[in-house]
Amino acid sequence: MTNPVRILVTPLLTLFTLLLISCTTSASLASPIATVIEKLQTENGTTWVLSYTLDKPAERLVFVRNPDSSRATRWQPEDSDIEIAYNITEQQEIVRSRTGKPISKVSFILTPTYKHLGKDYAPFSPFSDSGNAFHSGRLFVCANFCTDEDKEWPITLKVPNDEHIVLNGKVVKDSVTWVDKNNGRQVYVGKQQPVITNSAVALIDPALPKSIQASLKYDMPKIMAYFSRSLHPLAAEKPMLLASYAMVDGHSSQGGTLPNQIFMHWNRNDLDKRAENSDFANKTLWFFAHEAAHLYQPGSTDGVSENREQSWLHEGSADYFAATAMNYLYKDANSYIQRRIRHAFENCTQGLTQSILANAYKKGRFNLYYSCGMIIHRAIDNVVQQKTSGKESLFTVWKQLQKAVSRGMPPGTATFLTLLEPYNAPELINAIKNATSNDDKKAIQGIQALYKMHWQ
Ligand SMILES: [Zn+2]
Repeated sequence: MTNPVRILVTPLLTLFTLLLISCTTSASLASPIATVIEKLQTENGTTWVLSYTLDKPAERLVFVRNPDSSRATRWQPEDSDIEIAYNITEQQEIVRSRTGKPISKVSFILTPTYKHLGKDYAPFSPFSDSGNAFHSGRLFVCANFCTDEDKEWPITLKVPNDEHIVLNGKVVKDSVTWVDKNNGRQVYVGKQQPVITNSAVALIDPALPKSIQASLKYDMPKIMAYFSRSLHPLAAEKPMLLASYAMVDGHSSQGGTLPNQIFMHWNRNDLDKRAENSDFANKTLWFFAHEAAHLYQPGSTDGVSENREQSWLHEGSADYFAATAMNYLYKDANSYIQRRIRHAFENCTQGLTQSILANAYKKGRFNLYYSCGMIIHRAIDNVVQQKTSGKESLFTVWKQLQKAVSRGMPPGTATFLTLLEPYNAPELINAIKNATSNDDKKAIQGIQALYKMHWQ
């Protein structure tokens, strides 16, 4: 995946879900495995220790999320009889005993630095002041095999007494236990107190350039208010916003969303220098608006990860929504927005010569979901406005998608395209079908036709 949000060198995370999950304790625990993650103060600094304790010994432990084999090198077993191996056939990492003993308790020392996972959320997002956010879904584990019964993971987190936890927007001292599920969540551990803004409970790295900090504090609430008005208000609890800046040698950054959470991580140390670039403010706003837009999109309702080949729907609309938000809120961003749209069109048509949209994620061209997706959504917006004399827009279609999903329809492209039928715009639907088809020539023609669909 390459990244269309050009302040980022590595791609934005594309996984997201808008499940509203409850994270209170639950009576039925399908998983018999107790997970404890602890940040310990040591002579040399701090250590993160993770342990799994099983009621019933198992032959092996397997993980729910297996984006690569990096646990094998980044998790050090405390017992030399234990190893993490990658099973190529099953495409998953496995915790097992070298001598074949049953497993009832295992512990690992974790590596709490940033690790880019192309198909998943980064396990740790370090802050410059030694605080850290971690992704709980990384810890989800099953005894022997994961089954449909493995849906909930009780996790206990313990932290040093001069630090605290921020879980679901609440500050907690010492330790906390919760039952996690679905795709997990980001949890903060460190010394920074969250800032409560109009729109979010925010943990913003104090080392970030002042312009980014100001933008997160003042622009982000405006952007979110715009999406609340245009799409729908968010659920009762304010979302968490995490912005971490590792200040290390590196050149990657990543943004993502999970239910009621937006997070951004800069794994580099040159943001002050980059902030001198005249496009930096606009790029940053676009990045924030894109991530914020995901919070307002309906996702799957059962925790199953989305269809990657359909990512043009969520990524393309998030990029186009970012364009509309910036266009509405920042009049002087117009020429920047026009440049991005033109660039998206060029990127998309060039990319479609190498991969059809459905296969782009397999061919390292994830950026096509952003660029082609944005051109598709821009055309829909233009045509819907034209057909309704400006009374409706792309937002109307997405609100209908939200309703359809809440009635139980799948949140994918099939449902979405059905919602376009009442607008009596066969040329639009045909062009989208061509653009997303398996025929590369048709796909390019489809995108070219969509690019020309202007109303005013
Ligand atoms: Zn995105």
